[in-house]
Amino acid sequence: MNPNRRAAFVAALLCVICAPAFLAAQASAQQSAAPPAPITAIRAGRLIDPETGTSAANQVILIQNGRFTAIGANVAIPAGASVIDLSQLTVVPGLVEAHNHLALTYKEVPERNSYYLTQILEDTPFRAIQAASNGIQMLASGFTIVRDMGNNGNYADIALRKAIEQGWLPGPTIIPSGLIIGGLGGQFSPTPEMAFDKKIVYPEYLEADTRDEMIKAVRQNALVGARVIKICVDCKPWGYTTDEIRLFISEAAKAGLKVEGHVQTVEGARRAVDAGIWSIAHDRGMTDSIHKVMAQKHIFRAGTETPISLVGHTTPEGYKFTVEMLRNAWQNKVPLTFSTDADYYVPGKTRGEVAISFIETWKAAGIPAPDILRAMTVTGYEVSETERTRGPIKVGMAADLIAVRGNPLDNIDVLRDVQFVLKNGMVFKQGGIMTPGAFFNGGPVNGTNRR
Ligand SMILES: [Zn+2]
Repeated sequence: MNPNRRAAFVAALLCVICAPAFLAAQASAQQSAAPPAPITAIRAGRLIDPETGTSAANQVILIQNGRFTAIGANVAIPAGASVIDLSQLTVVPGLVEAHNHLALTYKEVPERNSYYLTQILEDTPFRAIQAASNGIQMLASGFTIVRDMGNNGNYADIALRKAIEQGWLPGPTIIPSGLIIGGLGGQFSPTPEMAFDKKIVYPEYLEADTRDEMIKAVRQNALVGARVIKICVDCKPWGYTTDEIRLFISEAAKAGLKVEGHVQTVEGARRAVDAGIWSIAHDRGMTDSIHKVMAQKHIFRAGTETPISLVGHTTPEGYKFTVEMLRNAWQNKVPLTFSTDADYYVPGKTRGEVAISFIETWKAAGIPAPDILRAMTVTGYEVSETERTRGPIKVGMAADLIAVRGNPLDNIDVLRDVQFVLKNGMVFKQGGIMTPGAFFNGGPVNGTNRR
């Protein structure tokens, strides 16, 4: 090696040895020099606390790194903070819809409102795109958390949850159930050809008839990324026994998941509450005595109370029963969540407008506005298990909130016209107009969670 080449070699070697230390020093210099994360300050004309049913005037809310950092009347706005003036509006925590199907939209044409046909006509990728759109529509109506309870093709709900969490697009925080677990047939009544030759039931339902199949079904959903387990308690006469429901609950608990039961008979409801299920969907199996047990065991009710104004989606008799049972549940102090089962197209309405229209039934049941708001927020966070991370407008929580004209504690209908939506500290809607630009990214800006 000639001397010149040797000198170059030594220099190169030194570079290789020094490079990590040099890069580390540079990184730490950058860190110490990095400017603090920007601060957003919101001036709220009125701030609602649904937990206590009270409001406070002229509050300042500070947000940094997507979280609430200070809230109060005397909070000083730091120099350089960007200020959002909501002094003419009422700020409310984000709403929760406890039972939606974002990747299912059945219609009069062409499938005559039969989702058995939707599953044949529309593939999962197409339904996933619909779910992304429906999620945006829900967020625009103030729903910052949506529990997505199955009927999502081949796990479109979980794909949507991941896409929103990773930061590809705006949407509510999704609590997905994955596939609905049911006995043979699920909720379908297929022909032998479709059931056994074409296996039509899967993936709309995950059939599990033996104890081994039940355990495996829970594990399948948990493995793929479900955040709650949904079972069909009594969709078929064979249904699930109290012991089998307990098996679902204990298996789901291993993965940190709770179990919701679709219930449509009084017998099914009795088995579900005896087993100590987390939540019950629908109201067909509800009675006064079942409500009393639900209140005592703190079992959530996701009653899916379809308003009479959604023509074709309930009947006068069905609506009368729904209103009476909702009132009975409220009188019995059952933990009530706001839930819709929305999975269809109503011409002229967004999915969010369909969902918010369900307050009509709650008013018809004579439930006071503060209690309706509590069901739409506080109890919704509890059933979604986000109450310690997302929902309440409290220091340390994820910065989600909405703003409306008027006071929802006096008039719940003001929630039908959400003017402002903040999600993870970013403005999604302002002045009644969606402004979602900041939410669209060409990559997973929040990380690449696989599950
Ligand atoms: Zn449903």
